[in-house]
Amino acid sequence: MLFELSKSYDYLVSGASTLGKDVIPRLAARLDIQPVTDIVAVDGPTRFTRPIYAGNALQTVTDNQPKHVLTFRASAFQPAGQGGSAPVENIDSTVVSAARLIAQHRSESDIPDLSTAQIVVGGGVSVGSAEGFALIEKLGKTLGAAVGATRAAVDAGYAPNDWQVGQTGKIIAPDLYIAVGISGALQHLAGIQGAKKIIAINSDPEAPIVKIADIVLIGDLFEILPQLTVELDRLGLKR
Ligand SMILES: Cc1cc2nc3c(=O)[nH]c(=O)nc-3n(C[C@H](O)[C@H](O)[C@H](O)COP(=O)(O)OP(=O)(O)OC[C@H]3O[C@@H](n4cnc5c(N)ncnc54)[C@H](O)[C@@H]3O)c2cc1C
Repeated sequence: MLFELSKSYDYLVSGASTLGKDVIPRLAARLDIQPVTDIVAVDGPTRFTRPIYAGNALQTVTDNQPKHVLTFRASAFQPAGQGGSAPVENIDSTVVSAARLIAQHRSESDIPDLSTAQIVVGGGVSVGSAEGFALIEKLGKTLGAAVGATRAAVDAGYAPNDWQVGQTGKIIAPDLYIAVGISGALQHLAGIQGAKKIIAINSDPEAPIVKIADIVLIGDLFEILPQLTVELDRLGLKR
């Protein structure tokens, strides 16, 4: 269906979301166009900036192809707001598609969406268990924050897959990221480069996350977290 629709358009654009990462490369392949993915800045009608090497370098790309197939990293842009001048057209959904939607499953949760939350509390493998993650969730609840995790914590089965932050997880850009028992491996940092302030809670003063954090609490997370949660709860900081 998208392939048919794309014939009338020069720019085919999606968020660099799970869906966009799934659909856009396949569309680009059918169009025989090189997609430009994960764009973080628009420098001109055909010039874009995107991160490479897990976010350690930025690449400027000039796209001189007849069509532009693009994905954008939503967290790198301010919300556009309502009432723009571009027309919104409903598309005839009877256009033939090879794919059929059989079922859709949404995870139900009263905590904010990780990708767009203003505050995120992230837990690492040192949290030690799924029960240990209850401490992370409690702090998150106190602050009205979303909860994230490292891949090591997800692989260990302590946190669900859709909490993973990093190169192969979600890219986030909160105002505040609280990294609890997280070493700060490059692949994790790739997901939090947009965070405006970072608080690190870690027992190792030499951990890489400590070097980039704005505020550091050195100590045992199992002692610090409950105290911090009680104090913040007392202050009534929940947004
Ligand atoms: C191709 C590839 C892609 C990857 N993608 C991702 C990704 O998307 N996201 C991601 O997160 N990782 C990713 N990884 C894994 C990444 O390299 C690290 O292994 C992972 O981020 C480490 O997770 P961690 O910080 O929980 O664990 P560790 O690196 O083991 O760190 C644990 C930290 O906890 C601290 N600590 C221990 N006990 C306590 C305590 N009681 N109190 C306080 N602090 C304590 C330690 O000092 C340490 O700093 C990827 C790896 C590869 C190869």
